[in-house]
Amino acid sequence: MDVSYILDPLNEHQREAVCAPEGPMLVLAGAGSGKTRVLTHRVAWLVQALHVSPLSILAVTFTNKAAQEMRGRIEQMLGYPMRGMWIGTFHSIAHRLLRAHWREAGLEQGFQILDSDDQIRLIKRALKELNLDEGYWPPRQVQWYINGHKEEGRRPHHIEEPADAQQRELLRIYRTYEELCQRFSLVDFSELLLRAYELIKNNEPLCQRYQQRFLYVLVDEFQDTNAVQYEWLKLFAARHRNIFVVGDDDQSIYGWRGARVENILQFERDFHGANVARLEQNYRSTANILNIANAIIDNNQGRLGKQLWTSGEEGESVKLYVGYNEIDEARFVVDRIQSWADQGNAYSDAAILYRSNAQSRVFEEVLVRSDIPYRVYGGLRFFERAEIKDALAYLRMIAGRQDDPSFERIVNTPTRGIGNRTVEQIREYARINQTSMWNGARALIQQRELPSRTLSALVAFVDLINQMAEAVQGAALADAIETMLQRSGLITHFAKDKGEKGQARKENLEELITAARNYEHNDEEGMDPLSAFLSHAALEAGERQGEEWEECVQLMSLHSAKGLEFPLVFLTGMEEGLFPHQRSLQESGRLEEERRLCYVGMTRAMQILYISYAWSRTKPAEKQSDSIQLGGRVRHNSFGDGVVLGVEGRGEHTRVQVNFESVGNKWLVLAYANLEKL
Ligand code: ATP
Ligand code: MG
Repeated sequence: MDVSYILDPLNEHQREAVCAPEGPMLVLAGAGSGKTRVLTHRVAWLVQALHVSPLSILAVTFTNKAAQEMRGRIEQMLGYPMRGMWIGTFHSIAHRLLRAHWREAGLEQGFQILDSDDQIRLIKRALKELNLDEGYWPPRQVQWYINGHKEEGRRPHHIEEPADAQQRELLRIYRTYEELCQRFSLVDFSELLLRAYELIKNNEPLCQRYQQRFLYVLVDEFQDTNAVQYEWLKLFAARHRNIFVVGDDDQSIYGWRGARVENILQFERDFHGANVARLEQNYRSTANILNIANAIIDNNQGRLGKQLWTSGEEGESVKLYVGYNEIDEARFVVDRIQSWADQGNAYSDAAILYRSNAQSRVFEEVLVRSDIPYRVYGGLRFFERAEIKDALAYLRMIAGRQDDPSFERIVNTPTRGIGNRTVEQIREYARINQTSMWNGARALIQQRELPSRTLSALVAFVDLINQMAEAVQGAALADAIETMLQRSGLITHFAKDKGEKGQARKENLEELITAARNYEHNDEEGMDPLSAFLSHAALEAGERQGEEWEECVQLMSLHSAKGLEFPLVFLTGMEEGLFPHQRSLQESGRLEEERRLCYVGMTRAMQILYISYAWSRTKPAEKQSDSIQLGGRVRHNSFGDGVVLGVEGRGEHTRVQVNFESVGNKWLVLAYANLEKL
């Protein structure tokens, strides 16, 4: 069998890794050395040279985009589609397992996925059930606590009753939150992973079945796996030990979300006798870019130590620009992109990278003014927009009435005269009777104790959902969505707003119909198209959809740039406090992660790298909010001194709740409040 087309485009070390004998294998190598290339070629090699069935291969990576690319490259190499090969993100694979084995996993068939915002909503509900004040228990911090434990594989019953009163209370919230999730069959992102892990771990027959099925496990970006993900991989590979992982300790950038770079060292202990390959030649960047990236990362302690060299040209020197302010910085960047494009280069080959998503706005403004097409990755993404989430909530209610977060979202959207007090009443009924809000609403209707206007509004809502469910039965997905948008009044609601925002929202809703029309349903998991589409929306929400390779400048955070490469890169906003991030200056270990992030950013560049910062930056509110601490004391010009109880929202929309000694609780928009930290 001719496999030269698989092996020829590789150097000697890469080839050795691709053709390595079966058994555990770790490829540890720096940026741009061909790790991802080795991984894809290994899959092709397994199929072509060793005649491994694609059904026996499980390949995991970190983003949907990377997964798609990987599949594309393999199919291109082999010349036929890899149907049946499991290739995806940890989340999508976990989801697939749970859909296939919902019963064994202790879920209901129609379980729904909670994204981060939905999760916050449910946490708020848990706080209400426990009669706790959101001001003192900021939902974001509770979320952090819950997810942190789940990422380490800890359920509430694994946690010893803490002596500290506050910790005890947090544990109680975690417990209540879990009860709510179970009651309504809701699964958040960290739950997907944990539950899929427990499913396999606690079910011997299932465990054996998958161990026999996935004879080859391959993992990209291994340095960013967390505890649960790694345990999961170990389970799959326990029998055959054919586990092939590639990673770079210097690019571990998710420590703040539970990733454990130590897994790389642990791998060699857990899989005794593992082959370890190192790749040292970089094929991506010019020598000048590589040197500066190496110099930065060299400052970190405790690295596993890797050399990286290139036989490529020296290239242009790396340039630094100091802007007068952030607008000047953005103008400079856009100017350079324009003259670069004037030389015949494609806009899509240029990337603007930043530390925090809020920084994209200024660049966007300047790009718009210069009439340059651009695309922002990882901002507020399509499926995360408010109007889209409204529409999805209707669809979720149609698919299954017990979904409380969706109920709360749409019961009065568009407004139909069901006020907060009524919703509170329904919630209370649901809490006391341990049932869903939908059931609660119906019970309250029957008891007829509501004021008559509220009663008829609620009856109308319940009827609306029931009628819509009936109307869309058997309809094609896109038609069902269209019907829902009409009947719910959502389209008319947003169309009424003639401003730019309202029109954009209406267009987004129409876009949802198109998304549904283009959505390819594969019914491998035995899901109906609507449930499948809803799961797809929840899982894809983390990433931008669409024509990624259109000719437009690419804007993204450093975190989402992982694994990608661009001929022209701008690393922007490199000011102390912004990047490196304020928090990293306060907490030990965080600065090293910032350095790795910087290394990731620089090594995205192939030919030209610019670094820039601004002399003075109009304080983005986000920066201020970092210095505002919960429980901290602040002073306001007219309200006097007070204590910060809560922080909500992001960027310019950040609001803080302060309990002032003289006037009591107030919510203030941080950007305008001019608070002085005491
Ligand atoms: P990162 O650490 O950023 O994820 P990586 O180690 O996964 O990088 P790849 O993305 O696989 O590196 O490869 C970097 C670039 O080098 C790609 O454009 C790839 O096609 C190219 N490349 C890798 N190996 C070779 C080779 N042997 N010959 C020519 N080009 C190569
Ligand atoms: Mg890679």
